[in-house]
Amino acid sequence: MRECDILIIGAGIAGTSAAYHLVAKHKKIIILERESQPGYHSTGRSAAVYTENYGPRLMRVMSVVSGPFLRDPPKGHTEVPLMHPRAAMFIARPDQVATLEGAVKELQELSKTLHPITVKEAYAQCPALKPGYVAAAAYDGGTMDMDVNAIHQGYIRGCRKGGAEIVCDAEVTGLTRKNGKWHATTAKAGAFAAPVVVNAAGAWADVLGTMTGARGIGLQPKRRTVIVFDAPAGVDIQPWPIVADIDEKFYFKPEAGRILASPADETPVPPQDIQPEDEDKALIAERVEACSTLKVGRIQRSWAGLRSFVKDKHPVVGFAPDAEGFFWLAGQGGYGIQTSFAMGMTAASLLTGGGVPDAVKALKVSEADLGPARLW
Ligand SMILES: Cc1cc2nc3c(=O)[nH]c(=O)nc-3n(C[C@H](O)[C@H](O)[C@H](O)COP(=O)(O)OP(=O)(O)OC[C@H]3O[C@@H](n4cnc5c(N)ncnc54)[C@H](O)[C@@H]3O)c2cc1C
Repeated sequence: MRECDILIIGAGIAGTSAAYHLVAKHKKIIILERESQPGYHSTGRSAAVYTENYGPRLMRVMSVVSGPFLRDPPKGHTEVPLMHPRAAMFIARPDQVATLEGAVKELQELSKTLHPITVKEAYAQCPALKPGYVAAAAYDGGTMDMDVNAIHQGYIRGCRKGGAEIVCDAEVTGLTRKNGKWHATTAKAGAFAAPVVVNAAGAWADVLGTMTGARGIGLQPKRRTVIVFDAPAGVDIQPWPIVADIDEKFYFKPEAGRILASPADETPVPPQDIQPEDEDKALIAERVEACSTLKVGRIQRSWAGLRSFVKDKHPVVGFAPDAEGFFWLAGQGGYGIQTSFAMGMTAASLLTGGGVPDAVKALKVSEADLGPARLW
């Protein structure tokens, strides 16, 4: 039996960012990961976009608070930049103009970089848009491409440096509470015990919760599909922003000389090693070709990943009221990478009795907004 102060289950961005902040508070941490390496599931399958203009307000707060770290990480944290300039452009057809205007107003509360642009400017940003398609647009020069691997590895290096251990091939199959400690049994890696367990199991968070007897949070994993296809010959696509439909029915962006696109699908599925479906790939082609002169020819690469939500689409960060020492860190939806620094910091602070960090509290987010009890 191996013991520590806090046992974290799941070595994706959620578990490792929490560990990164916890070792700074002198906690002995062990992270248990089912797969043979961290990052195999959602964390390794994102679209790698940082934008302060995406998702419900609480998620946008977490992105805003994470921004300074991701833009300018502490010296020695990483040898490569964690983010690269990209920009985002939200577009609207004539029937979507009111939606875009309303969204811009709402988003500007937290974003200093989003503003409406003219239709002419929109076509200058992405000349591949079909003439007549765009009736209104907004531009965000603060949106960035993220190097997700560098961000994840930075947390992993940082938490290992602080003494944390990541045990892979360690699927937790049982959790029981005895004498003030959680005892975790794993399929192949032995047994572990700690007074506190952090449930950072991504799409499997409710499965894990069930093992403790804690009431579930109603987590719903949703499949999202991404393809990468060739850019039109002879066109310099690199300066294009990410182009996103204001109703989130598609987005596309340059990706290492090719084009990455998604139909922004949200198909509810059970937690699993999810794979892309042909019908979703076809949907991407249909939507991209409807708004632009791009032709989706041979698909170079495609993948699917799970974005997991609870009913209000906010994250769940806090101790379970009905299972002592069991802490939820789940429901990151489609924002888990860009919010990771603030989410890890908030989790670490709540786990060690510090309450919601000042930077998050200043943007009007309370412990009750984050905790699981709000869902019942
Ligand atoms: C297509 C797509 C595009 C996205 N784009 C973006 C984006 O542009 N920007 C952004 O910020 N976010 C984006 N996201 C969302 C982001 O990827 C997720 O919010 C984030 O990765 C969730 O991280 P996690 O650590 O909670 O989950 P995961 O990375 O899935 O990690 C959970 C880990 O727990 C492990 N685990 C589960 N059960 C057990 C068990 N019983 N024992 C041991 N280990 C267990 C799993 O193996 C897994 O490794 C996107 C997601 C998808 C799918």
